[in-house]
Amino acid sequence: MILKKDYLKHAQDVSLWIQDYFENIEKLPVKSQVKPGDIYRQIPAQAPIKGEPFDQIIADLQSIIVPGITHWQHPNFHAYFPANNSVESVLAEQITAAIGAQCMLWETSPAAAELEQKMMEWLRDAMGLPTHMEGVIQDTASSATLTALLTAREVKTNFQSNLNGVPGHLRVYCSEATHSSIDKAVAICGIGRNNLVKISVDQQQSIIPEALEKAIVEDLKSDKLPCAVVATLGSTSTLAVDALGAIAEICKKYDVWLHVDAAYAGSALLLSEYRWMIEGAESMDSFVFNPHKWIFTQFDCSAYFVKNAEALIKTFEISPEYLKTKHRGVVNDYRDWGIALGRRFRALKLWFVLRSYGIEGIQSVLRNHIALNEYFVQELLAREQFELTAPSFLNMSCIRLKPTLDHNLEQENNRNINLLHHINEAGKIYLTKTKVNDKIMIRIVFGQTYLMKKHVDLALDVLHEAADKCM
Ligand SMILES: *Cc1c(COP(=O)(O)O)cnc(C)c1O
Repeated sequence: MILKKDYLKHAQDVSLWIQDYFENIEKLPVKSQVKPGDIYRQIPAQAPIKGEPFDQIIADLQSIIVPGITHWQHPNFHAYFPANNSVESVLAEQITAAIGAQCMLWETSPAAAELEQKMMEWLRDAMGLPTHMEGVIQDTASSATLTALLTAREVKTNFQSNLNGVPGHLRVYCSEATHSSIDKAVAICGIGRNNLVKISVDQQQSIIPEALEKAIVEDLKSDKLPCAVVATLGSTSTLAVDALGAIAEICKKYDVWLHVDAAYAGSALLLSEYRWMIEGAESMDSFVFNPHKWIFTQFDCSAYFVKNAEALIKTFEISPEYLKTKHRGVVNDYRDWGIALGRRFRALKLWFVLRSYGIEGIQSVLRNHIALNEYFVQELLAREQFELTAPSFLNMSCIRLKPTLDHNLEQENNRNINLLHHINEAGKIYLTKTKVNDKIMIRIVFGQTYLMKKHVDLALDVLHEAADKCM
């Protein structure tokens, strides 16, 4: 056990550990090389009966835990989407932990509630989202999307589903390219997967608005009740962007809730040159993006915005006596803005990051990532071993080995999967894949906070060396 008065002594050790981790992370294999069970086996079967020295715990952190970490902050991590942090967000999280507040109600920490409200306004305005929208921080985009569908469900059924259960004729629309969190949310909110209509997409993987309208009209004819459309800005597979303006018109015409999933690409709205993504979408009902992906505010921090906060609160509020407070109705009690009662103080890290970087600071890092991706594409195509499999957008590219004449699609897919395994096992860089129209694509994302050109050059070298071996 450590006494509070001895905090600093141990904090210094931990800070030195963190500084060393920041500086030497590049020497570690980016993807953990352990086998299943390797870590589990090293942890004793029972919790210690007597307390152990803190030094021993730190030593085991280094020897047992670190080898089993896939280093998401490694500048050669180009897999999935990033979940990047920054020195600022790490420091803020330490303070959040020290304060240890549970921020369910305004009263349980007024500063947490009011800072959260202001941070959402800062982001909304810096991103050009409609000024009538109000925001709340959620843990993940998945929770925000579930929250959106639950609210849409209540609005569509006059708040009767909360009381009597969900009628079986509600319908939700999205595309084949939409994130799997929509499938999950539709199941959890009781609408049911069979009532999720997947609208076909065009060449660019964007929803075909005419097909969406047709599906809604057909459902209306057969007594279904169109409830919500989920549009995507920046699909997870290829960063496809749905045409929000056209979709918003359809949603208005048929009185359907429009939820926008911009989990990753939403950050790009901080750049004026990407504002076209939300043009014509003034009427969207809800919008989510993750500061915890691309603006240096480590997981978890998902920003959820709604047009009608009343409907959101009406969906979630429950007031047992022990949660009734004097300021109810005057302030934001964020437990009514989502699923969980208990909430972390997440606004603090946003405040630290937004203030320390400034909007211009964030913009310049994002633009640098986008420019580095352009450089990557140019160099990659010049060497003629790979091709793009989707239009490169923002800071991500989807690529594969150039097909050879005598191979069919399955053989080509296997070549690319082999290449990917070969690269990831070597541990220098980390990439992931996706499949679109049966074609395997390797995704590469340049979104690490402290990414530099030399890391892009390394990725190019690794890809080309691996291609030589896997030909
Ligand atoms: C990452 C992502 C999600 C899921 O985000 P979580 O915060 O992990 O739930 C949803 N939609 C899209 C488009 C994403 O890229």
